[in-house]
Amino acid sequence: MESEPKELQELKRRLGEIRDLHRAAAVLSWDQQTYMPPGGAAARAEQLATLQRTAHIWFTSDEVGQLLEALRAPAAEWDYDSDEASLVRVTLRDYEKARRIPPALIAELARVSTLAYEAWVKAKAMADFALFLPHLEKIVDLNIQIAEALGYQERLYDALLDQYEPQMKTAQVAALFDQLKAELVPIVKDIARQTDPDDDALLRRPMDVQKQWDFGLAVLRDMGFDFNRGRQDRSVHPFTTAFSIDDVRLTTRLDPNYFPTALFGTIHEGGHGLYEQGLAPTLERTGLDDGASLGIHESQSRLWENLIGRSRAFWSHYFPRLQQMFPEQMRDVEFEPFYRAINSVKPSFIRVEADEVTYNLHIMLRFELENDMLERRVRLRDLPEAWNAKMEEYLGIVPPNDALGVLQDVHWSGGMLGYFPTYSLGNLYSVQFFEKAKRDISGLMDQIARGDFSELLKWLRQNIHQHGRKYIPAELVLKVTGNELAATDYIRYIKQKFGELYSL
Ligand code: ZN
Repeated sequence: MESEPKELQELKRRLGEIRDLHRAAAVLSWDQQTYMPPGGAAARAEQLATLQRTAHIWFTSDEVGQLLEALRAPAAEWDYDSDEASLVRVTLRDYEKARRIPPALIAELARVSTLAYEAWVKAKAMADFALFLPHLEKIVDLNIQIAEALGYQERLYDALLDQYEPQMKTAQVAALFDQLKAELVPIVKDIARQTDPDDDALLRRPMDVQKQWDFGLAVLRDMGFDFNRGRQDRSVHPFTTAFSIDDVRLTTRLDPNYFPTALFGTIHEGGHGLYEQGLAPTLERTGLDDGASLGIHESQSRLWENLIGRSRAFWSHYFPRLQQMFPEQMRDVEFEPFYRAINSVKPSFIRVEADEVTYNLHIMLRFELENDMLERRVRLRDLPEAWNAKMEEYLGIVPPNDALGVLQDVHWSGGMLGYFPTYSLGNLYSVQFFEKAKRDISGLMDQIARGDFSELLKWLRQNIHQHGRKYIPAELVLKVTGNELAATDYIRYIKQKFGELYSL
């Protein structure tokens, strides 16, 4: 474009300031989860609410709407892939959605979730679903109201899912999950018959946490994470956040008696962090400076954690280094038992501890129950029984109490329904992307076996990272792989890797 229309300049100025508020809120939230003393909690909640409320008011203003309207027609003529056309296209979609939800409804959900979170913490500690039930009733009601306000064509769930995975439809997720279920449930049952409860005991030897930390940082550096533009700290729950494209924060947690917690957590968050650091600098402060969706973001973390971090190739390079760093614990361990241990499959109650094979079954169960709750096919007071019945059906085990069952995850107490499928979508995207990378980069697995990730990172940056939020997930997957999202690559990957490990 020769000269930018003045409306575009003004829109960019306003979006820049709004993005500043979001990034400032991210700093406060990061601090809250890393260094803030407990006494700071009440004031911090007010500060965060003020920043978020202000950002929402600025973004949904009539002025922003008028600028977007003035740009709608001219932007349709600009190159679809350009920063400018993408900015108008994506911001119009965000704006129309944000305007549909009444501010009072957002405030009510924020208020209800604050109380619900406190009740959930207590309910989980006491394994008593009844304490959480009245709060869940309100959260489901409010989510139904939000879905009605946002609008949907087929399923109520479509409107909620769209908040996390733009334009993904419930029917498409259900079809993918049906395929996964048909393939994975029998595999899990086959493996469960021959599983050895102690096959990962060799990972449970005490290890110095400082050395664990150093090992993780060395892997992050090899992955290409830029420590001039980011850092890692400790937190109770690992997460990644970014204050700008040039300041990306990772966190991890350390368990002195189980090193995979820190290492795989670090690699996972590192995958998120590389995505944030790889966004095109021209997207900074536009609102396009973020991942395409939660599912696409998760594809990056899972690609590094599972497809690379739990592969033979990766450990052929790092296993000798691990033995060197931890001679007492690892000297007598052979490669094969180690590789089996980090890929051990066991039906278990807790989603976040689940292995690659059982993980998606945990997600499916939540997806189905969320739909049943929103479409009123299950009475909420019967939810624990419904949960346990599905656990038995998919994983062959029944949680002994609700803390290990229906109460385990934080998401519902935070007011979020429609979020869970993005974890499984991330798994599917990750394999589809990685298969394409293997076709495009000759000798990729040999490079990984040498601890050289540079070509892979270049490929990820070019094909995925740099675009930020320019494309919805369906566009991005088609653009990167030439195909639509499907479960086939993922199922083939699972069958091959775990078929070999468990002689299926
Ligand atoms: Zn993640």
